[in-house]
Amino acid sequence: MERKKIVILGAGVSGHTAALYAKKYLKDKADITVVSPEKDYNWIPSNIWVGVNQMSESDVLFPLLPVYKKEEINFIRGKGIELYPEGTKDNQKSFIIYEATDEKSKGEKNNLYYDYLINATGPKLNFGATKGLGPDFHTYSVCTANHATHAGAKLKSHIEEMKKGKKLTLVIGMGHGTCTCEGAAFEYVFNVDTELRRNNVRDNARLIYLSNEAELGDFGVDGIQLEMAGYITPSNIMAESLFTEQNIEWILGAHVKNITETQIEYESLDGSTSTLNYDFAMLLPPFQGHLLKTFNKDGVEISEQIFTPNQFMKVDADYSAKKYQDWKASDWPKYYQNPTYKNLFAVGIAFAPPHQISEPRKTINGTVITPSPPRTGMPSAIMGRIVARNIADQILGNNNPPRSASMAELGAACIASIGAGFTKGSAVSITMNPIVPNFEKYPETGRDIKSTFGEIGRAGHWIKRLLHTLFIYKAKAKLFWWIIPE
Ligand SMILES: Cc1cc2nc3c(=O)[nH]c(=O)nc-3n(C[C@H](O)[C@H](O)[C@H](O)COP(=O)(O)OP(=O)(O)OC[C@H]3O[C@@H](n4cnc5c(N)ncnc54)[C@H](O)[C@@H]3O)c2cc1C
Repeated sequence: MERKKIVILGAGVSGHTAALYAKKYLKDKADITVVSPEKDYNWIPSNIWVGVNQMSESDVLFPLLPVYKKEEINFIRGKGIELYPEGTKDNQKSFIIYEATDEKSKGEKNNLYYDYLINATGPKLNFGATKGLGPDFHTYSVCTANHATHAGAKLKSHIEEMKKGKKLTLVIGMGHGTCTCEGAAFEYVFNVDTELRRNNVRDNARLIYLSNEAELGDFGVDGIQLEMAGYITPSNIMAESLFTEQNIEWILGAHVKNITETQIEYESLDGSTSTLNYDFAMLLPPFQGHLLKTFNKDGVEISEQIFTPNQFMKVDADYSAKKYQDWKASDWPKYYQNPTYKNLFAVGIAFAPPHQISEPRKTINGTVITPSPPRTGMPSAIMGRIVARNIADQILGNNNPPRSASMAELGAACIASIGAGFTKGSAVSITMNPIVPNFEKYPETGRDIKSTFGEIGRAGHWIKRLLHTLFIYKAKAKLFWWIIPE
């Protein structure tokens, strides 16, 4: 019998995890192929430390090919561009078209047939959503290792200027009203603060956190009621006290709409427009999905049926339009399986969330200023693992009930670095359960207060540094890699 073919698009946190587990579960019972444009794996969370010159690109990147060779997983350097889930009239076998990205065959297009497809293509960094945003224009980013290197180099040159007495304004945050990943900007602003202090230039810097969150500590999850040192503390109180202690200013509810070489223009939740002069800005872009133009067997485009307007793939979620008050934990997907094509899955940032987690807000001008739902590393990797397990069960004919990984049932641990260094480092460690508030189960706060807690301190930094080593060890598929949890 012909071996089943599993194709995974994307070799990031969720796709790479799915590939390693699919191989572990299926061994030689299936052909596993990863299609991804870059030759290296990037442990993205540590890009923050590259952006403050505490790590280099080589610390956060490693080549994928040797890992896939060792694991006997096929690796194609390319990007998925079209999807034919029904095949064509002549050959009704599902396939994708990918475009090669390696030096030898760059731009060539090829078909790749599959029995199961996992879309793990992550975010498309949509710098184009805001005029003047991004490394091609006026601001810096830490979303890729290369972006972070450039941010780090500029920060270094500004520190040298400040050492000579120059006073500078540094703005860190979100480059659009619909951005997600506030946790990353939060980490970066505190790491920059630490770096400025380490270089004795903090007094020469005005440091500003500029965000689309309505409150500090919202993090795109509507804030968190944390158990801290025996007290229930809302995350906005925790964040406000941290920002105040470090003398970091904050501007909230902001939709950045135009950036020039010297000024950031933003609209606020009250509908007013303001400008901010700056010398250095690291502003994250909003995320979009990577659209795979989708066709039925007659060649008719059906992308709208498979993808949402912002290009994320629809899975087993309830996408019907509802009011904020009517949102339910059960709207969130469990299996990451497309409802039309059951052999099609989307994990990590690639799947379409049914709605925001933070309360949606609009200005009187109709501008949406609301954080989009974050899909952090831990849930992304868990989704990759459970989808690999469910596919393996189908191929092996195991009669197990499918594993689920709803973000309204999953807890997540997030350690936000607020400074690097063995003796000076610190971090905010937050465990929240579940990620999406579930008011049916936990009527008071939406989360289980017994397993939703926070700590601030050096131990968090050490754990975060240890996780860097452990997750890279796991991603390299070294001995007993699967013992390390996601
Ligand atoms: C600066 C920063 C710091 C962060 N810090 C943390 C943190 O501390 N903790 C945490 O839990 N999370 C953190 N995150 C979030 C975390 O990085 C994401 O949750 C995680 O990377 C999502 O995994 P993914 O597989 O969906 O996407 P990615 O890891 O981005 O992987 C997507 C993959 O798909 C590939 N790809 C793109 N287009 C195509 C295509 N058309 N065809 C095939 N492949 C394609 C990409 O090259 C990439 O390999 C951070 C994110 C950022 C940006």
